Amino acid sequence: MFHIGCHLSPSAGFLAMGQTAKAIDATTFQFFTRNPRGSKAKPIDGADAAALMAFMAENGFGKVVAHAPYTINPCSKDERTREFALQTMADDLQRMEHLPGNYYNFHPGSHTGLGTETGIALIADTLNAILTPDQHTTVLLETMAGKGTEIGGRFEDLREILDRVELAEHMGVCLDTCHVSDAGYDIVNDLDGVLAEFDRVIGLERLCAIHINDSLNPLGAHKDRHARIGEGFIGTEAFARIINHPALRQLPFVLETPNELPGYAAEISLLRSLQQD
Ligand code: FE
Ligand code: FE
Ligand code: ZN
Repeated sequence: MFHIGCHLSPSAGFLAMGQTAKAIDATTFQFFTRNPRGSKAKPIDGADAAALMAFMAENGFGKVVAHAPYTINPCSKDERTREFALQTMADDLQRMEHLPGNYYNFHPGSHTGLGTETGIALIADTLNAILTPDQHTTVLLETMAGKGTEIGGRFEDLREILDRVELAEHMGVCLDTCHVSDAGYDIVNDLDGVLAEFDRVIGLERLCAIHINDSLNPLGAHKDRHARIGEGFIGTEAFARIINHPALRQLPFVLETPNELPGYAAEISLLRSLQQD
């Protein structure tokens, strides 16, 4: 089953996101757990969450991805910023128990001058403080573009974080195609080589989801500016190989391209047309 979807606004509630996804022929989606600026989250409506879970089962959805606010930074040099990230993520994970069996993705963070090793240790400390043995959510580290002091631009960064997490069975990785290309991994000309490298360093069994975005910038640019599918340096042919790759094809693919719903619907239709059974 090919699961493709896009980033959706959670403002109308959980079931509404499922219905919106279905209306554009999506069978997965992603949503921010709260305002991306990281403000206080609305209380969870348990009945609405249960209704979404039933709707997803009835309609053959794959797993969905909750995305942490991209402004939190668990490895900032500022202690209050780190504490805020920890509290936000702990609260998000509790809320995710209303949607058991899905994913919670976050950007590992930017070390803001502390250095990569210290940053990695702080990220792992945060995860060790918030993960619980009986949780039902898999927490995903997102591959990053390596912009500024960002951690996660190299597969080795993610490996080192995973190595330091005690409850690593609750951890996985989300590969963002724009980010890995910007980080210097050539998924256009050497997809097999990049996936072999991912497997060697992290292990493909950790790969849980794909953010499917084109990039406005060339290989290795370290910029992180997403483009619509086919309107960037990755290109439609490379995406056809990505969605059909035996190591990737069963994963949920989520679009985070600069689009409103009609644009997402068109991209989903394009990608479905490129998918081979
Ligand atoms: Fe992200
Ligand atoms: Fe992403
Ligand atoms: Zn990005």
